[in-house]
Amino acid sequence: MADIIQLLPDHVANQIAAGEVVQRPASVVKELLENAIDAGSSSIKLIIKNAGKSLIQVVDDGCGMSVTDARLSFERHATSKIKTADDLFNLHTKGFRGEALASIAAIAHVELKSRQDDDETGTHLKIEGSEVVAQDVVVTPKGTAILVKNLFYNIPARRNFLKSNPVETRHIIDEFHRVALAHPSVRFSMFHNGSEVFLLPESNFRQRIVNVLGSKTNEKLVPVDESTEVVTMSGFVGKPEFAKKTRGEQFFFVNDRFIKSAYLNHAVSSAFEGLLKDGAHASYFLNLRVNPQTIDINIHPTKTEIKFDDEHTIYAILRSAVKHSLGQFNIAPVLDFEHNANLDTPYQQQNTTASAPVVEVDRSFNPFSTDEDSKKETSFRLKREQSAGWESLYVGLESKETNRDVVFNTEGFETDPEHVSMFQNASKETTAATYQLHRKYILSNIKSGMLVIDQNRAHQRILYEEFLKQITVQEGVSQQLLFPLTLNFSVDEIKILTELKEQLEHTGFVFSKLEGETLEITGVPTTATESEVSIILEQLISDVENEVPDSSFSQTDMLAKSLAKSLSIKTGQSLTKMEQEHLVNSLFACKEPMVTPDNKLTFVTTTVDELDKKFM
Ligand code: ADP
Ligand code: MG
Repeated sequence: MADIIQLLPDHVANQIAAGEVVQRPASVVKELLENAIDAGSSSIKLIIKNAGKSLIQVVDDGCGMSVTDARLSFERHATSKIKTADDLFNLHTKGFRGEALASIAAIAHVELKSRQDDDETGTHLKIEGSEVVAQDVVVTPKGTAILVKNLFYNIPARRNFLKSNPVETRHIIDEFHRVALAHPSVRFSMFHNGSEVFLLPESNFRQRIVNVLGSKTNEKLVPVDESTEVVTMSGFVGKPEFAKKTRGEQFFFVNDRFIKSAYLNHAVSSAFEGLLKDGAHASYFLNLRVNPQTIDINIHPTKTEIKFDDEHTIYAILRSAVKHSLGQFNIAPVLDFEHNANLDTPYQQQNTTASAPVVEVDRSFNPFSTDEDSKKETSFRLKREQSAGWESLYVGLESKETNRDVVFNTEGFETDPEHVSMFQNASKETTAATYQLHRKYILSNIKSGMLVIDQNRAHQRILYEEFLKQITVQEGVSQQLLFPLTLNFSVDEIKILTELKEQLEHTGFVFSKLEGETLEITGVPTTATESEVSIILEQLISDVENEVPDSSFSQTDMLAKSLAKSLSIKTGQSLTKMEQEHLVNSLFACKEPMVTPDNKLTFVTTTVDELDKKFM
């Protein structure tokens, strides 16, 4: 009888493998984001259209690939991450199976652009049905951009199996959250159908959690820290009274990889025993660090389940660490009462308005919160919390007192508590009284003491967010000039401005001529005056030349930054009371009031306690 066994052609094998690796658009997102992380990127951008069904694009600034590697990367079992079987037990990367790109290329249209730092030009590949259909040399920024279009175009059954757009988008956001939470030091952004869904600056873990889940999260977090020979744990659990009926906020990261583990989940839940309402789930964000040789990640194609050598011990340590943290937290309200600054600091009391008691009880905690509520909250978070209103800032204050007492009792509370707690410190009393110091700082009262705002930096933040909004969402207003303004630049400079023309127009500029070496302007943004125009544009040109934007997004970002820098209130400018108050209010209406677009502090605080100490 004839032999009937044959080897499957590669593209068929790839399609079969794809079934395991790529279940839905979110799987592609996960693989691409992980590759970007493995490439050592410091900034990663995710763009999706139509819930990822039409387009998924990931742009990174990582190590990039050589021509050969770029081609090889789409072969099955092609990986740069392991060489021998032994390496499987000493993994420091997310990927290692070398099948993600091959799988994706088997079931979608893929395009890749990649350039290594040392190379002048990069590689552009187009792949359809596992076949390379085009390859050329391109000018492209350092790093890799991968574009995945028409997912499952050749497997209609799979395509029809996909859920509605909101559901698939939710899955994508979940994956995005997991990777973003595991890597707070990497900057992430995400866009869906052209609008920004997330913009996560480089930060510490606590800030990243808050940026991902909303500013209200901050007051709900209790730090967990434990270091043993087997495992080092760090992160946060949610205070029991905020626990929800959904399991949404449960994150374990093992060596920076998101994992699912019912067993470890049980460890945390059991630490919460007796503290949760019926049906409520603990929330947690926990980083576990173990020797890579003591885990096996190889047991699941999507690598979300791993096996620990000594799971039992980890269970016990985890449970006790969480219990310990919750215990410390539980005694905190008593300390808080005893040390309530309002009760024993008459000076502070004088400045406290009558509204304080009202706000004191206005905590966002609602013991009767229903599923409906938590659903609402999720969709709210999806859009990212808009400006954290004054109320929510103030609410945070109360629990901040609580946290502070814990801080004093706990060593190594968190790496960088200042940022977050400062944000919490700002209260609505800032509007009550402001004072300008040395035409540089604005001083203001806050509940715990004093707020010192750098006027220039604060204004940069305010303008930056305003311009970003104008460029991306709604156009800014323009003021007409009486006579057109003519300026001369070099041809190259005019070219730069031409590239930014559309975005500049969004901010309120109106160009009647922009060619050769001249530029004629008939309208400017309302925030600018005619005499400032040339400074603004010169600054912008030099920023572009120095920064080499790598995409339309970072170009927008750079433009907003540059305009904000040029137009911001400078040090040395004296401000009226009204201007001061307006500045303070606008700053705290920002999405990220704590830092300038360049990540410099916009304000610092000094507590009454600290001042008291100086007088001792
Ligand atoms: P794995 O990540 O398991 O190695 P993949 O199929 O995801 O397998 O990727 C194959 C190879 O392609 C990787 O090992 C890496 O060398 C290269 N690669 C993929 N994505 C990137 C990227 N964004 N930047 C640089 N290299 C990449
Ligand atoms: Mg990979």
